[in-house]
Amino acid sequence: MVWLRLLFFALAIYLVWRLIFPRSGRRREWGKRGRAGKPHPEEMKMDPVCGTWVPITQAEQTEINGETLYFCSKACRDRYLEKKK
Ligand SMILES: [Zn+2]
Repeated sequence: MVWLRLLFFALAIYLVWRLIFPRSGRRREWGKRGRAGKPHPEEMKMDPVCGTWVPITQAEQTEINGETLYFCSKACRDRYLEKKK
């Protein structure tokens, strides 16, 4: 009976699907809460000039063409703005 094999195959795919997707949903919730129980885990952003990862609260924030960019220092921001010209 070929159809029965196909049915089992479809069921197996469905079960794998169900295993993957609720897990990704839970991960998103974990991200909101933070692993260490902190209400707002500090987000890291990469400085596009020197490649340094800076905590969002300590970064030099600049909005360029509607896009928010984060720099490790004003010097890096100035260098980026120089390049853009
Ligand atoms: Zn930098």
